[in-house]
Formats: sequence, structure tokens, C-alpha cells
Amino acid sequence: MTTSGLVIKNTGSWYLVKTGNGEIVECKIKGNFRLKGIRSTNPIAVGDRVKIEINKEGSAFITEIEERKNYIIRKASNLSKESHILASNIDLAMLIVTVNYPETNLTFIDRFLATAEAYRIPVKIVINKIDLYNKDDKELADGICHLYSTIGYDCHQISGKTGEGMDTIRNILEGKITLLSGNSGVGKSTIINTLLPELNLKTGTISESHHKGMHTTTFSEMFELPGGGYVIDTPGIKGFGTIDFNPEEVAHFFPEIFKISHNCRFNNCTHRHEPGCAVLEALKNHYISESRYNSYLSIINDSTEGKYRTGY
Ligand code: GDP
Ligand code: ZN
Repeated sequence: MTTSGLVIKNTGSWYLVKTGNGEIVECKIKGNFRLKGIRSTNPIAVGDRVKIEINKEGSAFITEIEERKNYIIRKASNLSKESHILASNIDLAMLIVTVNYPETNLTFIDRFLATAEAYRIPVKIVINKIDLYNKDDKELADGICHLYSTIGYDCHQISGKTGEGMDTIRNILEGKITLLSGNSGVGKSTIINTLLPELNLKTGTISESHHKGMHTTTFSEMFELPGGGYVIDTPGIKGFGTIDFNPEEVAHFFPEIFKISHNCRFNNCTHRHEPGCAVLEALKNHYISESRYNSYLSIINDSTEGKYRTGY
């Protein structure tokens, strides 16, 4: 029997596929399975829409992957060209940050946003732990929300612990495949647990009944939300992995800089020292924020030296 479904868990050796009628099927891939154009240690990713074949005796195989609208990879190592696909068909990346406990630096946020732009994945910023913030922290949080929403990135303030603002988050996540990202300690697990209080029970049931002792290397997994949609958890991965930028194209991934760059005298302007640079003019007049511009420069500098590695 052949059917199609969505890959919701990837362990590196087997996969869980949710079929159209809601069944969850454990699948393998055949040894000779190859995916055109992608060299990967593991060709199937969470988020893939696949065709599967279920044999009479109950074993199931993935036979085909539908074209991905996007995917994020992690290089196995700097020396290796092999890559590991973490997740695909992502509708949204939700970047969790904190202005304190711990402090998230703006360069990290900007590098994340630029990488997401390059992957064409929309981002929403969520400032967590507002229950802990004093007046200064709150002002900082408001300032960050103002800065990024002006550029076009929605920004929300929540507390995963008290639940404040979580309804907005639930609404945003509904019906989408969302990658939850952010530095460790910002509250990603807490947020997932708030969204899915029964989660431990669920994952526990799957691993105990079918795969005792086999769930040690979970590559990535997505969790279905009660209101529909999924959140992807990529253990140990803070962001998108790596991407190589050319210095000339970095501005494309800073929307407000890119918009203004059309007015620069030279169309290969890098907005550093060129005469007639509209970006430098906008910076002087505070239409472009200094922190954003500095993040832009930091990526340019890395890419000029050929070492750009999204930086986190
Ligand atoms: P992760 O590394 O991003 O998954 O972060 P965790 O969810 O493990 O959270 C790190 C710590 O911050 C834990 O001690 C959480 O209890 C705490 N924490 C997470 N969210 C909040 C919050 O909204 N308010 C407060 N006060 N603490 C939080
Ligand atoms: Zn310029």
C-alpha cells in the first residue's frame, strides 16, 4: 500500500511519518535511497512530505520526498562537505530572546535574522521572561521590540513561566510548522512544555512501546500542537547552522539597509566608505540603527575574510 505523510521525527536510522488519516507509521529508507542534488549523511528531515510504502507484514519505507519549500542544514564539520538537514518546509522561525537572565546580544539577533532572510524563512521575535524584568530591563525590551517591528519583524513579550502573552504565541503557531530557536537558557523548553503539558507522556509512550533504548540520538522532532501546527525542536541547535555570504549580497538580508541602498550612487556599494552612499547618510540621520549597521559590518568583515559562519 502506498500513502503520503509528514515526517515528524528523525532519529538518523528510522523516521516517524504522520499519514493523511492521522496514523503514525515508523519508516525506514532503503539502502540505495538517494536524493537528487543533496549530499547528506541523512537525506530525510523533519518537515518533509513523503510518499511511503507499507508492506503486508507491516514494515514501511519512504520512497519519495516532495520538493521542499526550504530547508536548513548543518555542516557535519568544517572540513567535510557532507551536510545534515535539520528540518524542512518551515513556515516560521520564532526567535526566543531575553534581555536579561541571560542577556541576548543584538548581533546574535541580527545574524539570525540575516540568515533567516537568506533561507527565506519569516521570523518573529519573542522576548521571554518578562516576569523577571525591572524597569530598565522593560525599557530595553520595549526598545528592542520597537527597533525590530519598525524594520518589519513582529516582536512579542511573554513569560513562559506565568503564561503572560502565551495566547498570542498559540495563535501565531496555529497551523504552521515553526522552528523554535534561541540561545540556551532563554526558555525554549519551558515554552514547549507550556504549549504541550502532556508532551513528556506522549514522547515517553512512543519510545517505550516501540523503541526501548533506541531513542538516544534524536536528530530532530516536531511536536503537534493542540490547535494544529507543529513546533520543531532541534536539540542543541541554537540557530540555522552555517551560510556563506558574499560581501556584496549581505545588504539583501538587512531589509531596511537594502531598501535604502537603491539610492546609493554606485550599485555595487558596500556601504562602508563609498561616496554618495545613501546608507551611510541614513545612519548619520538615525534612520538606520547603529546596532543593525554594526551587525551588517560584522558579517561583511567575516565574509571578506572568508570565515562567515553565522557567528553563534
Ligand atoms: P532553554 O535552554 O531555552 O530550553 O531554556 P529552559 O526552558 O530550560 O529555561 C532555562 C531556565 O529559565 C529554567 O530555569 C526555566 O525555569 C527558566 N525560565 C524559562 N522561562 C521563564 C520565564 O518566562 N520566567 C522565568 N522567571 N523563568 C523562566
Ligand atoms: Zn551605499
